Amino acid sequence: MTDGEKKRKFIFDKYSENIIFLKSNSVIDIELKYDRTYICPICLDQFSEAALDQTLQNPLSLEDAPPKSLGGKANILTCKKCNNTCGHEIDKHLTERMQELDHHKFLPNIEFTAKFEINGSTIQGKISIDENGTMTAYHMDKNNNPIKLQDYIKTAKKDSIINLQIDKKQVNPINLQIALLKIGYLLTFEKYGYSLILDNSYDRIRQQLKNPFEVIYPLDFWFKAPLPKEIYGVPFIIEKGLEAICPIFPLKTKVSEYVFGTIVPLTTKPIEDVITELKERFKVQKRFPVAFDPMNGGVDYLTDLKAISKMKTWINNLK
Ligand SMILES: [Zn+2]
Repeated sequence: MTDGEKKRKFIFDKYSENIIFLKSNSVIDIELKYDRTYICPICLDQFSEAALDQTLQNPLSLEDAPPKSLGGKANILTCKKCNNTCGHEIDKHLTERMQELDHHKFLPNIEFTAKFEINGSTIQGKISIDENGTMTAYHMDKNNNPIKLQDYIKTAKKDSIINLQIDKKQVNPINLQIALLKIGYLLTFEKYGYSLILDNSYDRIRQQLKNPFEVIYPLDFWFKAPLPKEIYGVPFIIEKGLEAICPIFPLKTKVSEYVFGTIVPLTTKPIEDVITELKERFKVQKRFPVAFDPMNGGVDYLTDLKAISKMKTWINNLK
């Protein structure tokens, strides 16, 4: 077995057992097509172990939440169809935006393209920042008109002021936020298995992930904040009025780390209500305390019935 095969089988076993466990304890009520079933968290189609065969048309494939390019590891299976619609193409926008943030901060050990301008003459160049933070600007022979470049070199004197314009990547702002939603949703699935996500109230997130070019989910569901490491993971916000799931994860580029929080609603409360309540509080105060329950303490929410029941009771009591 290759590493990929081992990983896929491991994830299949873990979550197909989770379904059987939840069903036999009446936590969920669902018709299963196979003795051992994996449900794709995005389209909710059911798959048997045979779907691990990658030569099939729509096999179960490894998914990294967060994307591998931003420090994530393969932790979930989604069907290839979902992986294609909401996969690398969408994640790319998030990765590129994170790299762009690094460029604007001129952090060490990065290189990026830019335009240099002196007295109206502009050429294409490259900025490289070494490990000590020393910045070197190059012009490029390849991407410049040779006459324009000669002109520019003649104009550029030791003391001339050069305007620098960092090249903008083609980042789609909707796609990049959908990529954040996918991470938050898949991390919720990774931790709580099928005990929460099979509820109809998550259809909207799934619709959004299946249609990454439309806005279906309110886009102010995420925030970027310096949060303490102890809270990384999938805690619950237990503050009265703000109750929700709050996946928190770092995204790592080559040189920096950005921490994001995302809001995934509980089955009893629409996302809009949580966002409205948050905005109301910001109106009154710039800062206010929010209580989190980290939901860990060594508890495995895939197999610990007591913990799952306690969580479900707490959610149901919010109705
Ligand atoms: Zn799917």
